[in-house]
Amino acid sequence: MVMTCENCRCSLKFGQAVMHTFLLHSTKVCPNCGARQYPTRKSQQRSIMLSLTAFLFFLFIVEAFEVRLVYSLIFAGFILFVTAVINPLFIQLSNEEESMW
Ligand SMILES: [Zn+2]
Repeated sequence: MVMTCENCRCSLKFGQAVMHTFLLHSTKVCPNCGARQYPTRKSQQRSIMLSLTAFLFFLFIVEAFEVRLVYSLIFAGFILFVTAVINPLFIQLSNEEESMW
């Protein structure tokens, strides 16, 4: 189950959730009831941690194996894709906007 609207309890389709991640929208509009939904502070922190981990993992692999530029770009694309797919699984939505920290 991904990104459930707190207002009407319907969940976003996985594809929509992934698109939101790609577009880096912090505000989501529920496709069912039209209510604005915001990621909770906890899930914002989790998605930052996820991106950071992915980035460090990328740096480690590229450095450790001295990956060529072309391959590291492909690898970066792959990491970005995986992160965008995993990210929505960690996001919880709330009716109220919370600041990041
Ligand atoms: Zn809704």
